[in-house]
Amino acid sequence: METIELNKRQELIIQIVKDNGPITGESIADRLNLTRATLRPDLAILTMAGYLDARPRVGYFYTGKTGSQLLTEKIKKIKVKEYQSIPVVCDENVSVYDAICTMFLEDVGTLFVVNKDGILVGVLSRKDLLRASLGKQELTNIPVNIIMTRMPNITVCLKEDLIVDVAIKLIEKQIDAVPIVKETEKGFEVVGRLTKTNITKVLVDLGNDEMI
Ligand code: ADP
Repeated sequence: METIELNKRQELIIQIVKDNGPITGESIADRLNLTRATLRPDLAILTMAGYLDARPRVGYFYTGKTGSQLLTEKIKKIKVKEYQSIPVVCDENVSVYDAICTMFLEDVGTLFVVNKDGILVGVLSRKDLLRASLGKQELTNIPVNIIMTRMPNITVCLKEDLIVDVAIKLIEKQIDAVPIVKETEKGFEVVGRLTKTNITKVLVDLGNDEMI
């Protein structure tokens, strides 16, 4: 898989640098019968994408990295904070009925449950709420803290974590979302949400070459 679609001129530039590097921008321009200014955007793209490297007063040289190596490097740099969503939380004392309403109104598949200090105490998924609805009990009388998955069994992540590490956790734990948290003296404060949809967006952006 190619990281970016290179045009003919960019392919030619790579070949020239491969054969002659280190080589100055001026010399590359001469070989192509172009001005340095015309060449500048292409050189910027090739350097940003990682095909070429530039050293001051030395010139351009070929990094030797393939498209898929560059893509892997790029993926391994993407952080949670670049793709996070706003979290939807509910209080631990609300009823299962109210949680179902919140889930519908907010259009999310996972609710994060917090205590009166706003600290993460649990997670509620669609299936948790469906399971509770199967019983004969009145849903307005069951507080969510009875049916939620609770701390310390919650998988969390930090804003600075790598997306790929969170993706691995989602697969391993077979869950759809993780709360993004900030550590405080009282516990984890919920500051965001990372879901399978966010991770799908990464794939779409990579496919559209929007992350050169
Ligand atoms: P669903 O069950 O609606 O498909 P999930 O696959 O996300 O949604 O949830 C499966 C189970 O894992 C549920 O019981 C849920 O409470 C729990 N769960 C969801 N997210 C987390 C998380 N981040 N950490 C720990 N448990 C979670």
